Amino acid sequence: MNAIEVLAQAGIRPTPQRLAVAEFVLAGRTHPTADEVFAAVQHTCPTISRATVYNTLRLLVNKGLLREQVLREGVTVFDAERTAHHHFVDEETGQIHDVPWEALKVYGADQLGGFEVHDLQVVLRGRRRRA
Ligand SMILES: [Zn+2]
Repeated sequence: MNAIEVLAQAGIRPTPQRLAVAEFVLAGRTHPTADEVFAAVQHTCPTISRATVYNTLRLLVNKGLLREQVLREGVTVFDAERTAHHHFVDEETGQIHDVPWEALKVYGADQLGGFEVHDLQVVLRGRRRRA
């Protein structure tokens, strides 16, 4: 499905600006910040404003096409991978990597008395192993 179809299916009118943002964030697996999306989209859509990028990201989050995550302290990133997965944050480079759900085993979330769990993910922090 291309970005136009994805937006149409979500009931979002595909303006050229929204399309530029959607094409960038839905295609990549880089967990960009809003400023990174703004910088990248300016190449294809030079007249786009920061406010339009932010508003479009908000719209995509509200429609469930993107997840907003705080994986590094004080940094909100956008994640186009909507299936359940964990994250590994490289403390040296700041890069965020997806970790497949099956790679970790998490038990007991459904047995926390008094809490109703709506979201579950593990955020691992570390660095690449030196060879
Ligand atoms: Zn992710």
